[in-house]
Amino acid sequence: MTGEVLKDGLPEAFESFRALVGRVLEAEREEPVRAPIPPQVVERMLPLRPPEHPRPWSDVAVDLERLATLGPRTSTQAFFNQLFGGRLGSATVADMLACLLNHSMYTFKVAGPHVLLEKALISHMGRLVGFEETEGTFAPGGSLSNLVAMILARNVHFPGSREEGIDGQRPMVYVSAEGHYSIKKNAGLIGLGRRNVRSVPVDDSGRMDPHALRAAVREDARSGLEPFMVVGTAGTTVRGAFDPIDALADVAEAEGLWLHVDGAYGGSLLLSSNTRHLLAGCHRVDSFTWDAHKLMGVPLTSSVLLLPRSGLLERNLSEAADYLFQGSAESLDPGQRSLQCGRRNDALKLWTAWQRHGDQGFAARIDRCRALARICADGVRDRPRLRLVEEPQSMNVCFEVPGVDVDRLVSKLNDSGQAVVGTASVHGRRVIRWVAVNPEIREEHVHQFLASVESEATAVDAA
Ligand SMILES: *Cc1c(COP(=O)(O)O)cnc(C)c1O
Repeated sequence: MTGEVLKDGLPEAFESFRALVGRVLEAEREEPVRAPIPPQVVERMLPLRPPEHPRPWSDVAVDLERLATLGPRTSTQAFFNQLFGGRLGSATVADMLACLLNHSMYTFKVAGPHVLLEKALISHMGRLVGFEETEGTFAPGGSLSNLVAMILARNVHFPGSREEGIDGQRPMVYVSAEGHYSIKKNAGLIGLGRRNVRSVPVDDSGRMDPHALRAAVREDARSGLEPFMVVGTAGTTVRGAFDPIDALADVAEAEGLWLHVDGAYGGSLLLSSNTRHLLAGCHRVDSFTWDAHKLMGVPLTSSVLLLPRSGLLERNLSEAADYLFQGSAESLDPGQRSLQCGRRNDALKLWTAWQRHGDQGFAARIDRCRALARICADGVRDRPRLRLVEEPQSMNVCFEVPGVDVDRLVSKLNDSGQAVVGTASVHGRRVIRWVAVNPEIREEHVHQFLASVESEATAVDAA
């Protein structure tokens, strides 16, 4: 026996949503850090399992409000844990609109003008990288933008690989010892082998050493391996270091390697004339990953892979499907150039934010984040209990609290509702990694944060 089909219309749901937005903003103002809730408590507070019978919307809405106010708050002035933070009203509303319209970004037939917005963003971002012509695709995150780059590089270097696989070949990928884990993970996914990703030594600042790269490539080639790809990182996850792209491009050119730049984090530094020198040489790369959901402040996910020529994506990702691809000009069917079939509209929020802020607004945003990193570094230097690991190279500030277990300290900060921040290892030592990615943070918030680190350090000491 089946029952009646339930009415589940937008107007009723939207009314409670408006109230919910108000509650979320109020909760964030009153309590910028929500202390973590133990999983057992969550289980008591929320019906985790789907029910057998329909529930009244008003009941479900109460659960939604609980959920919305009990979880971590990533948009407040006390959240420094991740490479994203803050909230742009324009982009947030645009992303909600994307849900409302529910297009799938594979064909012009189903996504219409949104395909053109996406193409315009790809061209504009490609021009910022320095490409004369740009092709690209939005992927769900930098890891997967990197994945597409690795698939293309593999297929270009090992021409049979798309049809026959790469059995019997010995491909080698190079990435700095401080590069992102997605490179290794992706190598495991696409048959390159995690072990064939060589970790290249970095200098004192955490930047890939191009001489070490050249030496490793030559040595591997001599022993019968096939070096084919180097990944430079523009903005490393922990230290915010930038590999010297020009020097990497020289090596890549001389050794016949595909040069990919993983600018998931630091690609946005191209937006400001004060920081773009950190990416000098990036117009020479074969592919470039850029996450807009990090330093550009749009909601997750919005990530682009950019390429300096056309045709590669289609040659390597398209499939025939006459039930789907039906005769729009091919360049207007992004589904022929993307990883996914059904694909969320990750362009609309970025397009909207860019309309609102313009190139100049984003430049100011980047400059402000850079200034906040300096303010934090100065604050660390001024406090005798804290020790700065190095001058911040971009937006990341790494510091130690000598004699104190920073992992413990950081959980106490979170548990007591003071701040959310991460830890990492630099030069084999545990450090606090603070990131300036939310330009709405004010100087006083930075000082408040450092003061709470110091007082927790004293408390941890005394315990
Ligand atoms: C964040 C990051 C990634 C992964 O991007 P996601 O969007 O989280 O998948 C890859 N590389 C670098 C350098 C990053 O900072």
